[in-house]
Amino acid sequence: MKTVKIPPKHPRAESLRMREVLKQGFEEGIVVEQGLMAHGRGEAFDYLLGEKTTPPASEAITVSAAALLLAEKPVISVNGNVSMLTPREVVRLAEVVGAKIEVNLFHRSSDREIAVMSRLRSFGAGEVLGVGDKASAELHGLKSLRRWVDPDGMLVADTVLVPLEDGDRTAALRSMGKTVLTIDLNPLSRTAQTASVTIVDNVIRAMPLLVKEAERRRGEATDSLGDVVKGFDNQVNLEKSISYIADRLMQISASKDDA
Ligand code: ATP
Repeated sequence: MKTVKIPPKHPRAESLRMREVLKQGFEEGIVVEQGLMAHGRGEAFDYLLGEKTTPPASEAITVSAAALLLAEKPVISVNGNVSMLTPREVVRLAEVVGAKIEVNLFHRSSDREIAVMSRLRSFGAGEVLGVGDKASAELHGLKSLRRWVDPDGMLVADTVLVPLEDGDRTAALRSMGKTVLTIDLNPLSRTAQTASVTIVDNVIRAMPLLVKEAERRRGEATDSLGDVVKGFDNQVNLEKSISYIADRLMQISASKDDA
């Protein structure tokens, strides 16, 4: 595989590094073309956010960590992009909160499922659900191949972390009464708008912070974790993210006017 040397001082060095990782995933059959395009949509929103974790995203990370720790049957849903960008964090988060890891792909094939599972295993994952015949349960109201889930995982989960999800499946999981946590750079996407908790941030920044927060809160009393989750309103938090972008653009345009 040919890799591009990224100058460390390049202003978009981290972004370029991510592209290289996804390109590698594409060449290994883990990431599909649509995944590369979805990443591009995310990058555009990351640019608007200033490529950093905002205060509303930090708040959503805290709530997500508490929700995962409170869950009886948490599941982390993994697609091709996530398995390439944050495999270490997926495995560690699952350990810390006692979650199962389940592969769930929009563009599903047996080879891809196995490739994603192998990548997670190479980062220390034990059991990986949702692969091959294991994904034998159907989420109703969905047409895409993402409707097939593992009867021991997503089907019976009470809380599901679905980074980089599509809106239809988020809605299907919510309608089954599950708490759905997502990480999505676009605060306007259907996923962002439908989830119980939306972390408007790049998975590459949000996942390590989520792991850290879960480690810090592990062992905290159930009542105290419950208070963190109870006080949260996802719509209000999404409005804060949208205002953050709007304010930032206003400041940038004002400073250009002054110049
Ligand atoms: P929806 O069905 O929810 O409206 P969509 O059709 O806009 O979603 P998809 O193509 O299904 O989007 O998924 C891509 C989503 O993931 C986009 O909302 C994009 O902003 C987001 N995304 C892409 N890369 C990242 C990343 N690295 N971190 C966080 N979010 C990302």
